[in-house]
Amino acid sequence: MADLGRIDGRTKLIGLLATPIGHSLSPAMQNMSLRERGLNYAYMAFEVGNQQLADVVTGMRALGVRGFNVSMPNKTKILPLLDELSPAAQFTGAVNTVVNENGKLVGHITDGTGYMRALKEAGVDVVGKKMTLMGAGGAATAIAIQAALDGVAEISIFNREDDFYHRALKNAQIINEEIEGINCKATVYNLDDADRLREEIATSDILTNATGVGMKPLEGESVVPDASWLRPELIVSDVVYIPRKTRLLELAEEAGCAKVINGLGMMLWQGAAAFKLWTGGDMPVEYVKEQMF
Ligand code: NAD
Repeated sequence: MADLGRIDGRTKLIGLLATPIGHSLSPAMQNMSLRERGLNYAYMAFEVGNQQLADVVTGMRALGVRGFNVSMPNKTKILPLLDELSPAAQFTGAVNTVVNENGKLVGHITDGTGYMRALKEAGVDVVGKKMTLMGAGGAATAIAIQAALDGVAEISIFNREDDFYHRALKNAQIINEEIEGINCKATVYNLDDADRLREEIATSDILTNATGVGMKPLEGESVVPDASWLRPELIVSDVVYIPRKTRLLELAEEAGCAKVINGLGMMLWQGAAAFKLWTGGDMPVEYVKEQMF
């Protein structure tokens, strides 16, 4: 029997361009999936920052790689280096997956679809629902745009008045004015307005933390101060997956919330969507979960 893990003369390359990169789960997740499916690709991580990005993309084109993932700090800087963008990548202004379509580099963003798929897997139907979304960075932007595209009716976006606040305003403007054919209203609030945050959570179906609060160096912290802000019917989710259970998710359990969702599903399904774009096949997600989670 052929050794499916072997690299030979026909192996197609998929890369990951980011820095720092050593902690990434993507190489292990993608390579175990490719091996399990018997596909002759190899996924390699390359330590690449903004400085090297243009040269690396030129090299990737010359090598004829099948594609690559892009992570921080390259998710926005990659845009002008590509030939085409998916609609979600255009609206989000970021790319995490590039596919080489016969020499044409096409950028996609799978973070938003990954998050929405994780909700679906948890039995959540988002259509017509109201979401309170905390954050306006890379993860939050992808989620806001995809939530609107997928039929969420109302999104209350909260961000503190830091460098990301203008992006919160932009996300709302894109949702309210630029995406055609959707029925979603987005409103932006200052995250420091605790009374407003509590009110919006009280009238929401879904609460999503897409800030870095809950993860190092903010581990053990939560934007929501205590469990009395939550209620059992509220779906509470966090994009953070290290730790698996953030302070927010602990509070959700304390409040008896029936659906409490951490960031692992988003990570898994964004990878599965990229796997599909490169190979045309489905990632063996159950196998990945068994091996990695
Ligand atoms: P980013 O730097 O683009 O955005 C950071 C966001 O957090 C901004 O909205 C910022 O205003 C907010 N923020 C930072 N410190 C804060 C504080 N002290 N109080 C309130 N808000 C604060 O980062 P990102 O790439 O969007 O990542 C955000 C989180 O999402 C990280 O923890 C990251 O690990 C996680 N993430 C998870 C996945 C996944 O697949 N599960 C994917 C991408 C990112």
